[in-house]
Amino acid sequence: MSPTHPVTVPGVLEVITGPMFSGKSEELIRRLKRARIARQRVACYKPDIDLRYHRTSIASHSSQTHDASTVRTVEDLRAALFPLLDQIDVVGIDEVQFFSPEIIPLTVELIHLGKRVLIAGLDTTFEAEPFGPVPHLMAIADTVTKLSAVCMVCGQPAIHTQRLGASQELVVVGAAGLYEARCRAHFTPHQDEQHSEQLELSARA
Ligand code: ADP
Ligand code: MG
Repeated sequence: MSPTHPVTVPGVLEVITGPMFSGKSEELIRRLKRARIARQRVACYKPDIDLRYHRTSIASHSSQTHDASTVRTVEDLRAALFPLLDQIDVVGIDEVQFFSPEIIPLTVELIHLGKRVLIAGLDTTFEAEPFGPVPHLMAIADTVTKLSAVCMVCGQPAIHTQRLGASQELVVVGAAGLYEARCRAHFTPHQDEQHSEQLELSARA
C-alpha cells in the first residue's frame, strides 16, 4: 500500500504557563523525567538570562533540576539542536518568554519533524501584559497548562507576578525578593509609580 500520509507523524506542542512561582519549571522537569522513563530521548534548552544555579541545567524554585543547555538566541538554539535532531524525541524549553518571535516558526518546524515540544514560560509581565512569544505559542499548542501560584498576601490562587520595590529590571529569573505571586485582588501594576507619587505627596505635605 502506498503511503497517503507524510512519512513523519507530526509531533505535539505542550505549553506550560502561569506567573512566577506557579511551578512551570517543576512541571517541565516532571514531564522531561517521565519522558526519559519512557526511554524517549530528551534535550532541554533555556535562554542565558536564567542565572540561577548552573548553566547546564534548568532549576525550579524548589531546587529540582534537569540537564539543559544555555543558548543566547533562537539561532543558537537551532544550531545546537539540529545536529542532534535524529537522536531526539522530546525538546524542552524553559523561560521561553525571553526568546524572540523566531522561536514560533522553529517550534512549528520541530512539531512537523515529529518532535514532542514542551515549552514553559511566563504568560504575562509584571505589568500584566502578554509576554513575548508565549501567547502565540499558547494559541497554536495542542495543550496548554495554565498554573497558578499562591498569593503572598492572602493565600488564594495567584495569576500575577508582582514586582516589588523600585527595581527597573525586566523579570529577571532567580532575582529572589524582587517579585512575588499575587491574586487579582492584591496585584498592583505600576506599583513603583504609585510609590513615587506617594513619596512626592508626602514630600509636599
Ligand atoms: P516557576 O517556574 O513557575 O517560577 P518553579 O517550578 O520554579 O515555578 O517553583 C515552584 C515552587 O516554588 C513551588 O513548588 C514552591 O515550592 C515554591 N514557591 C515559592 N513561593 C511560591 C508561591 N507564592 N506560590 C507557589 N509556590 C511557591
Ligand atoms: Mg521557572
